[in-house]
Amino acid sequence: MNHPDTALQAGATPASRSTRLPSYLNAAEPGPWAMFLEQLDRVEPHLGDLARWTDTLRRPKRTLVVDIPVRMDDGRIEHFEGFRVHHNLSRGPGKGGVRFHHAVNLSEVMALAGWMTIKNAAVNLPYGGAKGGVRVDPSQLSRTELERLTRRYTSELGDLIGPDCDIPAPDVGTNDQVMAWMMDTYAINHGATHTGVVTGKPISMGGSLGRRDATGRGCFVVAREAMKRLNREMKDARIAIQGFGNVGNASARVFHDEGARIVAIQDIHGTLFNEAGFDPHALLRHLTVEGGAWADFPGATLIPSDQFWSVDCDVMLPAALEGQITKDNAPHIRARLIVEGANGPTTPEAEDILHAQGCTVLPDVLANAGGVTVSYFEWVQNATSFFWTEQDIHARLDRVLSEAFDSIWRSAQDKGVNLRTATFITACSRVLEARALRGLYP
Ligand code: GLU
Repeated sequence: MNHPDTALQAGATPASRSTRLPSYLNAAEPGPWAMFLEQLDRVEPHLGDLARWTDTLRRPKRTLVVDIPVRMDDGRIEHFEGFRVHHNLSRGPGKGGVRFHHAVNLSEVMALAGWMTIKNAAVNLPYGGAKGGVRVDPSQLSRTELERLTRRYTSELGDLIGPDCDIPAPDVGTNDQVMAWMMDTYAINHGATHTGVVTGKPISMGGSLGRRDATGRGCFVVAREAMKRLNREMKDARIAIQGFGNVGNASARVFHDEGARIVAIQDIHGTLFNEAGFDPHALLRHLTVEGGAWADFPGATLIPSDQFWSVDCDVMLPAALEGQITKDNAPHIRARLIVEGANGPTTPEAEDILHAQGCTVLPDVLANAGGVTVSYFEWVQNATSFFWTEQDIHARLDRVLSEAFDSIWRSAQDKGVNLRTATFITACSRVLEARALRGLYP
């Protein structure tokens, strides 16, 4: 594919970008928000008349920063920073996950909220974009400390969240139990149970079948569609995955079950490799049921972690954090297809290198949209109190993502742009059209 849009980047100097940073971000370390701004710069020339509204997307609608004091089990009181950002609400209530991670900061949460705006519009969900986070390492807290932290954070969000205004969900470091505590805290504070205030809940309290693995399943669906267009077989395709959390774990199982070969998985504990492929169900059993260590998994061998990026594979699936594929490791990547299970894993300059190498990048805002799509199904089921079968969920998810993929693929071909720019064009046009129609108040 041709990528004339990369040339547009030359004019966007770091100085001109940093002048657009809000005063509350540190211009010396602009973080992931600067990457989001750069992606907007790439799409703006393609927006026609709607481009006059693009600045709306260059600042979040509102941001909340809260102090979360928590009584620790030993009696000490610790303070944590909490965030919730509403990036854009033009198309509906805010929607996006909550991240618990020791490095969370405002720039990151703003970027993640911006990507939710794009993602939700790209697959045409009736939502705006939001995201939340707490700067904490959840693995260092006991279960009771984690519960107290979650409840206080939820309480501090007050009326910023609600089934009609902003609906949180799991992200890195959070899960269905955290969502259960959030829903319960909201119910107590409001004197009524609203199951639709969060998604990604346990099934027994209004969660949806298929939500837990939805992001991974969605990664598979878009990868399958891309492989068809690239005339590649999914059967026996070699897959390398970074991350074995909410997304990497489910992706590994779905790709394996659909006949692909998982040749490498990297996690904080190291990089497992087996040229013939290994069974991720067995890895999961080894880690959870048998209490085995990552390095002792009998199905694969441990290789040095810096070798992960040069593993010989067909599909590479970064499913951990932002900024993992950089200008330094991109030249070593041998995959033909990158599927961004994580949010923001590829820097813009690394993406240009990958394209020049003939590698297709399926952008996060499309590739990992399966999670929020099934979150939307969960929210609809909560609103109607009528629950769908797992088969229904899988079929509808497949349809939403394959149709979105098809129209974005065709638009990329027609306009001669890469898939990220094509996805941004579709999404920004939808958001800005709603913005223009709603108009300014007063
Ligand atoms: N955290 C997920 C994401 O980044 C899911 C968000 C949601 O379900 O609202 O897309």
